[in-house]
Amino acid sequence: GRAWHLVARPEGEPAPEVFALREVPLEAPGPGRLLVRNLYLSVDPYMRGRMNDVPSYVPPYALDQPMDGGAVGEVLAVGEDVTGFAPGDHVLHGLGWRTHAVLDAARAARVSEEDAPLSAYLGVLGMTGLTAYAGLVDVARLAEGDTVFVSGAAGAVGSEVGQLARLLGAGRVIGSAGSAEKVRWLTEELGFDAAFDYKEATPVTEQLAAAAPDGIDVYFDNVGGEHLEAAIDAFNVHGRAVICGMISLYNATEPPAAPRNLSQVVGKRLRIEGMLVADHQRLRPRFVEQVSGWVRSGELKYEETVVDGIENAVDAFLGMLRGANTGKMLVRL
Ligand code: NDP
Repeated sequence: GRAWHLVARPEGEPAPEVFALREVPLEAPGPGRLLVRNLYLSVDPYMRGRMNDVPSYVPPYALDQPMDGGAVGEVLAVGEDVTGFAPGDHVLHGLGWRTHAVLDAARAARVSEEDAPLSAYLGVLGMTGLTAYAGLVDVARLAEGDTVFVSGAAGAVGSEVGQLARLLGAGRVIGSAGSAEKVRWLTEELGFDAAFDYKEATPVTEQLAAAAPDGIDVYFDNVGGEHLEAAIDAFNVHGRAVICGMISLYNATEPPAAPRNLSQVVGKRLRIEGMLVADHQRLRPRFVEQVSGWVRSGELKYEETVVDGIENAVDAFLGMLRGANTGKMLVRL
């Protein structure tokens, strides 16, 4: 098999040279373990953080070791004492960035191709989907009629946030994304009431104010920086910001200039709350049931940008950081 290693710590935007694709011998699975051939790998923004050697909620990637991440694969062989898995089963697990994985059966979850396409377990019905759902339900405590603004709106989390907000009772839904084509997709295909291209010359604050003449009640932040500042300006009283991610800062080597208007938090009685999807697992059964129903009925649409081949996984990851994806970025092996 082959596995991507991190071979140096990146500074700013990672150079392709900090990664290396290495040959790894295939082992037979020992007791309690599975040998899995990966079919889909997830590339995610949080992986950029794991490339830095700093303490965080997930440990940094070790140098000269395979990187890990979400993956779906097919069980090729099972070790002794494994129950509940057989060759041919499909599983969701955490040893991505490689063609083959050997892992404890206890760390794999069986998934069914009959219920949903395998790729969906990494996106719309997987980690990014639950992030969108939990952020709206648990953190924003979305209320009927709320005006919701989401940044990174054409990405995996953001595109689901906007549609779920509507399905869960929001009033106006507004999104921002990095191209005119993405903006069109949001309003024409996904039913956003308004959307804007944050790369246009007009500042984000002005574009948001125009899109939300009556203010916003919920801001789902995937981006940070200038976007968060714009949302604080646009908030109505008792607004709630779900701080899910701050991708505009992940490659930054200097601290951000914005937001400069935090003093508004007092007068507007804002709640600004960070979230990690791992804390919201108790919502998973409800999420899967509700969202798979909306996917089946066509009320919730999802897109995937699929890059083929293990040798292109780094390009997929770097492309995702630059906005090459619409919806979830995936690697298909
Ligand atoms: P996306 O599918 O949204 O892909 C990343 C997108 O970020 C790109 O497509 C790009 O779109 C956008 N982007 C890149 N640079 C910038 C920038 N400087 N300013 C604005 N947008 C930018 O990724 P995910 O849906 O997987 O993740 C979205 C966010 O959610 C990230 O911040 C991530 O860290 C966070 N997250 C947090 C979780 C948690 O538990 N807290 C769990 C999962 C995700 P564009 O073309 O629009 O620029």
